[in-house]
Amino acid sequence: MNDAASSWSTYRLAEFVAAVSTAADVDGALDAAVDHVAEALEAGAVAVVRGGAIARSVGWPADELPAVSAPLGDGGDAALLVARADPLAPAEASLLQAMARTLGLALVNHAMVAELRVRQQLLEGLSGIQRSIARRAPLDEVLQAIVGLAHAQFRDEQAALLLRDLDDPETLVTVASHGYPPELLDRLVRRRIGVGVGGAAVAEGRLIAVDDYASSPYAVADWVDADLRRAMAAPVFEGGEAIGSLIVTAFGPSRGYSTTEQAVLSTIAEHAGLALADAKTAQEMVHQALHDSLTGLPNRVLFGDRLGHALERAERGTGAVAVLFVDLDRFKTVNDSLGHAAGDELLRQVAGRIGGCLRAADTAGRLGGDEFAILLEDVTAPDEAGEVAQRVIEAVAAPIALEGREVFVGASVGIATGRRGDELLRHADVAMYRAKTAGRGRYAHYHESMDAEALDRLDLEASLRRALDRNELGVHYQPIFALGSGELHGVEALVRWRDPQRGMVAPLAFVPLAEETGLIAEIGRRVLRAACMQASAWLRAGARRDLRLAVNLSGRQLEDPGFAETVREALAESGIAPAALLLEITETVLMADTEAMLERLAAVRELGVRLAVDDFGTGYSSLRCLNRFPVDVLKMAQPFVDRIDEDVEHRALARSIVDLGSNLGLQVIAEGIERPEQLAELRRLGCELGQGFHFAVPGPAAEVEPLVLRGRVPASG
Ligand code: C2E
Ligand code: MG
Ligand code: MG
Repeated sequence: MNDAASSWSTYRLAEFVAAVSTAADVDGALDAAVDHVAEALEAGAVAVVRGGAIARSVGWPADELPAVSAPLGDGGDAALLVARADPLAPAEASLLQAMARTLGLALVNHAMVAELRVRQQLLEGLSGIQRSIARRAPLDEVLQAIVGLAHAQFRDEQAALLLRDLDDPETLVTVASHGYPPELLDRLVRRRIGVGVGGAAVAEGRLIAVDDYASSPYAVADWVDADLRRAMAAPVFEGGEAIGSLIVTAFGPSRGYSTTEQAVLSTIAEHAGLALADAKTAQEMVHQALHDSLTGLPNRVLFGDRLGHALERAERGTGAVAVLFVDLDRFKTVNDSLGHAAGDELLRQVAGRIGGCLRAADTAGRLGGDEFAILLEDVTAPDEAGEVAQRVIEAVAAPIALEGREVFVGASVGIATGRRGDELLRHADVAMYRAKTAGRGRYAHYHESMDAEALDRLDLEASLRRALDRNELGVHYQPIFALGSGELHGVEALVRWRDPQRGMVAPLAFVPLAEETGLIAEIGRRVLRAACMQASAWLRAGARRDLRLAVNLSGRQLEDPGFAETVREALAESGIAPAALLLEITETVLMADTEAMLERLAAVRELGVRLAVDDFGTGYSSLRCLNRFPVDVLKMAQPFVDRIDEDVEHRALARSIVDLGSNLGLQVIAEGIERPEQLAELRRLGCELGQGFHFAVPGPAAEVEPLVLRGRVPASG
C-alpha cells in the first residue's frame, strides 16, 4: 500500500469509527455504516446482511455489479456487502474488512447493554489509535497504544505485537508489549515464524486461540515453564501479506475465548495493519525496537541476543567471549548542569568514540542512560579485553567539545570473560561497580568474590526497608552558632540508622542506596516530620523564638509532584513558622535544569521556607546555580574549612565564599569546624555562622536539648 492510499484509509476509518460508535441505536449505526462505506469505496451499492436478510442498504439490488462480502464477525452470520464495477484494491479490501468488524462491534455494543462499557472503550480506543496515526504521532506510541488497547480489553492478560524482521524474514521480533515479566521478554524477543501461538498465526494467516496452552500443539517450553495458560493471536496484514501478529496471553486460570473476544482481537489487529501501512515500513519498526534511538547502537535487547549467539558459537570454537560493561563517570553532573540536549550530544560522541576502539566483528551497544556494553568474540590473548577497556577509557577521557566548551567525563569498565553462561553481562556490571568504587577511570575483571559485595548491597537494601517498616530510623541534631556572639542560631537535622546487626550505619553509607532505590522519599518525609515536631517541642519548652531548623533534602524528593504539599503538612502539623525551616540541597541538585524541579523549589519557597546550598563549592559550577535559583544560605563545604588555618590557598577559597555571600546578601554557614584556630580564622574572614565538632557533635534530641534551651555555645566552645 502506498503512503497516500494508507493515510486515506486511516482517515476514512477514523470517520467510520466515530460515526458508527456515536450512533444512538442499532438503526442509526446501520444507516451511518452503509453511507460511509458507499462514500469511502465509491460503491454503487452497499448492504448489511443480518440473519440471512438485508438489514440496511443503499443502491441495492445491483444485479449487474459483482459484490464483495465482509463478515461482521459479531457471532452471527452478518456481513457487509459492497457492489462495484471495479474490483477492490488490497488497501480497499482491508478497509472494508476493518469497517465490517467495527460495525459488528458497534452492533454488539448496542445490542448488549451489559458489555456496553467495554465495547465503548474498544471503540474509543480504536478511534484514538486512528486519530494518533492521522496526526503522525511517533510510531512507538501508536504501537504501544495498540498493545495497550488489546491489554485493556482482555483485563488480566498480557499483550504483545510481533513483527517480521526483514533481515531475517523467518523470525518475528517483539516491537511492543504490555504486562510481561521482563526476564521472559528478554529471552523471547525473537521467535521463528510458525513457532508458538504468535508465530503460527503469522504462518497460517488466521486467528489462533488456545485455551489449554501446555497441551496445545503450539506450546513453547519457556512459556510452559512460566505457566502460561492460554493464548490467542491474530495475524496483522499489510497489503494482503501477514507481517506479524497481535497476541494476548494469560498466566491465570484457563477459560475459553468467546467469539466476541476473537472478533475484538482481529479488529485491533486489523487496525494495527492499517497503522503500520500508514506510518513507516515494518522494517524500520523492527530496527527501532532493536536499536537505541539516540546513538543508533544496538539496544539492550539486541545486545543480549548477539551475546547469546556469540556464546553458542564459543561453545563450538576455541576463543572465549568477553563482555565489557562501560559506565560513564560524572555524566550526571554534566547532564544536570549543561542540560539534556548537551547530555544527548555527549552520549552520541561517546558512542562514536567507543565504536572507534573496536574491530569490525565486535559489537557495542547502549544499555540505557550512560551505560554501554561491548561484546568481543574469539578472545584468545590473555588480556585482550583489558587492552580494549584501556583504549575505551582513554578515548572517553579526552576532552569533548560541547556547545562551545570542553567537557570532561570518564569511563569505568567492568570485564567478564567466559565461554558459557548468560551471566556475563551481570558479572561485567558487578566488576564495573568495583572499578567505580576503586576510583573511577579504570577497569576491573570480574571475580566471584565480587558477587558477595553485590549481595551485601542487596542485603543492606533489605535491612533498610525493614528499618523503615519498623520505624527504626532516628534523627540527630547538630547545633549551629553565630560565630561572633556565640549565640545559638539553630540546629541541623541529620538522619541516623542503628541496625541491629551492623550497628550505627553512617548516612553516607545508606543515603546513596536510598536514593538509588527511591526509599529516600519516605525517609526524607519522616526526617522532615520528626524534625519539625522536635523543633516545635523545643519552642514550647522555651527555646529562642527564632530557632532555625535545617533539614537535608535529596534531589529524588523533588521528583515528587506533591513535595511542596509534604512540606506544608509538616509545617502545619508541627505549627512551626515556615521561615524557621531551612531546606539544604546540594549544588548538583540545584544544577538540574529540569523545570519541574525548579517549580517545586519555587513552590516551597513560596510557603516562606528558606533554601540553602549544602556543601557549597564542591560542585561543578557553583556560581551558575546561584544565578539559576534564589537561595538564602550558602553552607561552606568542610574541605574549605579543613585547612583554612594552614595554607593560603584554602584561606583564599574560604574568603571568596564569604565575600560571595555578602555580595549576594546570603548567609554563610561554615561546616565542620573542629579546631579553635579554624574558628578564629573564619571570624576574621567575617563568616557569620558555623557548626562543627568544636562546638557540638550531632546527638539525639535529649542530649542536645540543654544546649538548645540555653541558647549559647557550650562552656568549652
Ligand atoms: P551534610 O548535610 O553536609 O552534613 C554535615 C555532616 O558533617 C554530618 O555528617 C555531620 O555529622 C558532619 N559533621 C559535623 N561537624 C563536623 C566536624 O566538625 N567534622 C567532621 N569531620 N564532620 C562533621 P553525617 O551526619 O554523617 O551526614 C553526612 C551527609 O549525609 C550529610 O552531609 C547529608 O548530605 C547527608 N544526610 C544526612 N542526613 C540526611 C537526611 O536526612 N536526608 C538526606 N537527603 N541526606 C542526609
Ligand atoms: Mg546538610
Ligand atoms: Mg554539608
